[in-house]
Formats: sequence, structure tokens, C-alpha cells
Amino acid sequence: MAEYDYDVLVIGAGPGGYVAAIRAAQLGLKVACVENRETLGGTCLNVGCIPSKALLHGSELFDEAANGTLAKFGVKLGSVELDLPQMQAEKALAVKELTGGIAFLFKKNKVTWLKGKAKFTALHTVEIAGETVTARDIVIATGSSVTPLPGVMVDNAAGRIVDSTGALALDEVPSHLVVIGGGVIGLELGSVWRRLGAKVTVVEFLDQLLPGMDGEVRKESAKLFKKQGMELRLSTKVTGAQLKLNGAKADGVQLALEPSAGGAVETLDASHVLVSIGRRPNTDGLGLDAIGITPNKRGQIETASDFHTAVEGVWAIGDVIPGPMLAHKAEDEGLAVAENIAGETGIVNHDVIPSVVYTMPEIAGVGLTEEQAKERGEIKVGKFPMMANSRAKTNREGDGFVKVIADAKTDRVLGVWIIASLAGTMIAEAALAMEFGATSEDIALTCHAHPTHAEALKEAAMAVRGKPIHI
Ligand code: FAD
Ligand code: NAD
Repeated sequence: MAEYDYDVLVIGAGPGGYVAAIRAAQLGLKVACVENRETLGGTCLNVGCIPSKALLHGSELFDEAANGTLAKFGVKLGSVELDLPQMQAEKALAVKELTGGIAFLFKKNKVTWLKGKAKFTALHTVEIAGETVTARDIVIATGSSVTPLPGVMVDNAAGRIVDSTGALALDEVPSHLVVIGGGVIGLELGSVWRRLGAKVTVVEFLDQLLPGMDGEVRKESAKLFKKQGMELRLSTKVTGAQLKLNGAKADGVQLALEPSAGGAVETLDASHVLVSIGRRPNTDGLGLDAIGITPNKRGQIETASDFHTAVEGVWAIGDVIPGPMLAHKAEDEGLAVAENIAGETGIVNHDVIPSVVYTMPEIAGVGLTEEQAKERGEIKVGKFPMMANSRAKTNREGDGFVKVIADAKTDRVLGVWIIASLAGTMIAEAALAMEFGATSEDIALTCHAHPTHAEALKEAAMAVRGKPIHI
């Protein structure tokens, strides 16, 4: 049998790769993880989930202080001022602590961190910073990068036309931020800058925000974002961007807009532009041709359900394979692939992957949308408004609702959708229920603590059979 430098080599140290590496080491394998960045944790910890949540939290606190929510509850402040450098410093600290935490976990679990960009040169073989490294099993966990928009050139350093990485690092509050793409990133980062004082316009190609989510949730979200002051330009596309120069420096951007279906061009002036039209898998420069892997039409690496690719000894997980681009999906795939490599049985149930948009209120869902469920058969739907939930009402967080979709015959829960201040936390219960194959009656008969937002899920489940109490 061939001798290899490592049992397992993981390419990429994002939530997919670092989790796979740690679990493989826990299972007794000799493991290395290659990472290109200066710090571990991938997109999520460095320029994604973590820094965005730090700014979402900071901007929520500012909003509560500046816009009278705290005063309404009797917390009186003097004048409220934004200290943006401090907010950014607190974000940077969270990123440093968490990426450093992964380095600590690598040491603790004896995972070797190989610094540099990995490229396949042959089966079981990669080149990293001029060195050749071999491994019996190689996991591709290279993640994804921003999809560029032709005609709208991102330059994060200049700071006028930015992608999510640039929008997380702005050193001033935009006077008018135009967000191109009304998906998760656009709405989360648009919310951050709106709360800090920017006028925000979202230009979305489709006729609704948040593609992939339940139709009613998409419509209600649009209403709430409008109520919060965001301007929405739906069914509209951006066809070009021109920097407005003031001497040698740009002090704004002029965008060319058109109806998505084509039509008259109009212009829109912005101080800053965020391009957030999706992300694409990272496979460029990886040397996939050297081992005979061809990405699919969407640039993704296809795998079997155990995450093995078509090529012996090569596995792939996370954003680089099909499925939602979510950190927790990547992590679960990381656990499963390590277990499969070690000869155990690692499984991910892709039918039950929750997704959360961390706006205020939060927007969350798991399982089928009402539209998808209807296509598959007869369903019953129970809804409960957060306005009628005692805790949400007390906290003045009455926007949103919970919706439970169940099979009409078996009552099995097929999907749950929530708009609520704590939707991201509440959806975990729905995911657990669905993983256990619960019926709506199971949720309705489960005692929920009072007063909690989670009671709204119980009441929505009761509403499936027409018997909620509080509406
Ligand atoms: P990544 O995290 O992208 O990690 C891949 C790593 O591989 C990178 O560090 C890259 O440098 C490295 N790499 C690539 N090629 C090579 C190579 N050839 N050699 C060596 N190293 C290489 N998801 C959520 O679930 N919740 C959120 O709240 C959330 N917020 C987000 C906010 C933003 C602004 C963004 C951009 C994304 C967010 N996401 C969120 C998505 C989440 O970040 C991704 O789904 C997740 O990071 C994917 O994990 P991954 O391990 O597949 O890849
Ligand atoms: P997205 O796919 O969520 O949204 C992109 C939006 O841009 C879509 O609504 C699409 O219709 C629109 N669009 C595409 N082309 C356009 C054009 N030319 N003009 C106007 N609109 C256009 O992508 P994203 O917001 O960039 O996020 C990328 C990925 O990162 C997502 O897959 C998401 O799962 C992940 N992410 C997750 C979280 C979270 O879990 N909270 C947060 C941020 C990012």
C-alpha cells in the first residue's frame, strides 16, 4: 500500500474544512488542513457570518438608543452618538477571538495547518507553496466567492463600489447606499447601514426579495423593510455603474437601471454601492483537471450522498458543492465526510437545513415552502401572528408570524416559516421536530414555557387543526 504524508488533507479551513479536519483527527487519523488566508475560519469567521453579526448587533443597539426604543422602556440617555471606529473595533475583536479559537482547536486536536494555496498535481497529491504533499484522502472545502456583476466593478479598497467584504469595513456611514441584489447579504448589510443612518435602496432583479423562501414570507418581509424605510426597486436590473469623480477621488456612483424585462434606462445616484447578487464556488486554480474532476454548469463539484466525488480518494463539502451556501450545512457535511473517511456512517439530512436572515425581525425557515408543499400533495397550514404572542407584544416586537405547513393526511410537519425578532432561535425547535418526524399535533401538545416567543410556534401548530387559543 502506498505511503502518504497524511491520512487526510483538507483544502480550506472554513466551517466545512476546519470541522472535517478536527473530526478526522478526533477519529484517530493523521490530518493536515491547507488554508490560503492568514487566519483560519474561512469566509464565515473572517468576512461573513461573524463580522456581519457583530455589526448587526452593534447597529441594533445604536438603533434602540437613537430611535427611542430604550426611552420607551424608561432608559433615558443623553444625546446618542455613533462611534463607528469603536463598532468596527469590537467586530474585529470578535473575528480575532474566533479565528484564534480555531487555531487553538487545531493545536489541541493535532491538526497540522499548512499555509498556502493548494493545487492538485496528481491523484492523492497537491502542491502547496512549492512543496508536494500527499494524502490518502483529500477533502475539497474551498468555499465560495462573490459573483461579479458585469459593468459594476467592485473596488473594496476605494470603498465606493463594494462587495460584502467591503461593506463590512466601511469607515463612514453612506449617505445613500444602493444595494444590488435583495437576497440575504443585501438585506442584512443594508439593515446595518440603514440603522446607522444611511438611506438604503435595494435593487432586485426578481419581483420579490429573498428567492427560495416561502412566498408569504417574502411578501411580508418586503412590507416590513419598506416600513423600516428601505426603498425597494423590484423587477429592476443594474446595467452599469460610473464613478463620480471629484478631483482624483470618487465621491459617488451613478448607476444605470432598467426594468428586468427590458425597457427605458434611468439613472440612480448613490454615495456607495453594495454588489450582492450571489456567490460562486471556488474551483479556479485548484488543478481539478489534473485529477479528472469537471465542475457542473454552476461551477459546483458534484458528490454522492457520502460526499465522495467521482474520483477515488477525493471528497468535497460546503459551498463548493450543490445546496444552500450556509455555514451550518458546511459544518454538518464536515462532520459527515470525516466519519465516512474513517469508515463510519456520516449522514446529512439535506431536507432539514434551517436558514435564517438576521435582520430585525429575523426571517427563518426550514423544510418546504407552502408553494413546494402544495405541489407535492394536500396540505394544512396553521398561522399565528407575533402580535398575539404575549412576550413579543410586551417587548414591542409584534411584527411577523409563524407558519406551520403539515401534510393534510398524516399531519407530518413539512415546513415551518417564521418572521419574528427571535426567529433564528425559534427555528431550531422546528428543525428538531422535523428531524424526529413530528406531526403538527406533536408540537401543539408539547408544553412551551410562558411567556416566550416560542409559544407562537405551538399556537401555529394548534392552528393547523383550527384551534389556536390566543387569536
Ligand atoms: P469558506 O468558509 O468559504 O472557506 C473556504 C476556505 O478555503 C477559505 O478560507 C479560502 O481562503 C480557502 N481556500 C480556497 N481555495 C483554497 C486553496 N486552493 N488552497 C487553500 N485554501 C483555499 N452562513 C450562515 O450559515 N450564517 C450566516 O449568518 C452567514 N452570514 C454570511 C455573511 C456574509 C457576508 C457572507 C459572505 C457569507 C455568510 N454566510 C453565512 C455563508 C457562509 O459564510 C458560508 O456558507 C460558509 O463560510 C461556507 O463554508 P465553507 O467551509 O464551505 O467555505
Ligand atoms: P442571494 O442568492 O441570497 O441573493 C442574491 C439576490 O440578487 C437574489 O435575490 C437575486 O435575484 C438578485 N440578483 C441577481 N442578479 C441580479 C442583478 N443583476 N440585479 C439585481 N439583482 C440581482 O445571494 P447573496 O445575498 O449574495 O448571498 C450569497 C450567499 O451567502 C447566499 O447563498 C447565502 O446563503 C449566504 N449568506 C447567508 C447568510 C445567512 O445565512 N444569514 C448571510 C449572508 C450570506
